[in-house]
Amino acid sequence: MKTKMTWKKILLLVLVVVAILLTYFLYPPAYPEITFPEGKKFAFTIVDDTDNATLANIKGIYDFLYEQGFRTTKTVWVFPTNDTSEWANLGASLEDSAYQAFVLDLQNKGFEIALHGARGGSSKRSEIITALEKYKETFGDYPKIHINHALNTDNLYWGRDKFSFAPFKYLYGGIFSNKEYYGHVPGSEYFWGDLAQQYITYVVNLSFFDINLLKINPSLPYHDPDKPYVRYWFHTSDGGYVTSFNELIKKKNIDRLEKEGGVCLVYTHLARDFYLNNTLDTTFKRQMEYLATKDGWFVPASVILDFLRLQPGDGKELSFREKVRLEILWLYEKILHGSS
Ligand SMILES: [Zn+2]
Repeated sequence: MKTKMTWKKILLLVLVVVAILLTYFLYPPAYPEITFPEGKKFAFTIVDDTDNATLANIKGIYDFLYEQGFRTTKTVWVFPTNDTSEWANLGASLEDSAYQAFVLDLQNKGFEIALHGARGGSSKRSEIITALEKYKETFGDYPKIHINHALNTDNLYWGRDKFSFAPFKYLYGGIFSNKEYYGHVPGSEYFWGDLAQQYITYVVNLSFFDINLLKINPSLPYHDPDKPYVRYWFHTSDGGYVTSFNELIKKKNIDRLEKEGGVCLVYTHLARDFYLNNTLDTTFKRQMEYLATKDGWFVPASVILDFLRLQPGDGKELSFREKVRLEILWLYEKILHGSS
């Protein structure tokens, strides 16, 4: 009887300690009041991962976004894939002259062009240098934004290296993948962290299902001294595919984004089922048309991030507690819903 009581007490003590730790780490930060340029009520844009993109499957979408007044961010690959075994590596690159002309036209219309690595498939340092110079030659400057491409070995702080809190690295490795990435590892043939630090301003790390990223992290974008080769990190709202995108931007969520004066940078793959048989997905079209009627700031991601970085409390280094909070929230979504 005496022993049973002891175990109960220990269990109770453990639960109390866990509850205190979770309360400490998950306690939400203060929500910022932001006055957007031109008196706009909220900010919204799309960050389009270029996987599988061709002129045939995305031009119709960009024509529509342009007509509706959205100026978003589109990533590109400089070179064609060197690994066709991965379906996600397929899609046009700047070596396709018609596609390059289309992307340049987008840039001229006010869209932002960003980097999705040198190609779909891993690239060594010398190839990445060539890609960055080709990018600059094509678009007039280096990219402000880079997004890691799924399994590329040259990714920066990817896989379990996304985490700052060591136990989460092991948890992620145990549940998802222990694959190593080397873009940020000096001495590796895939290392290009010093070039990223020199040329690139923003890199995406974690995506969340919330439409309002300021609710997740009001200090967006931020610097992490544990990951020095990235100048600023930002998050995205996860709308990776047409179904999750449509769920994210349903009317109720758009109305909340407006009411909260929030910021939404949607991460997606516009080449995946948004435009089939020369027709836009009807739900996507209807919801984007509704969003376009709102008084939102519909500019490219780096314009929003440049603006946020100048707000009080933004562009700073996060505390350990803030980083662990984000990592708990992301792991929770990843395990339950498979976020990006
Ligand atoms: Zn990708």
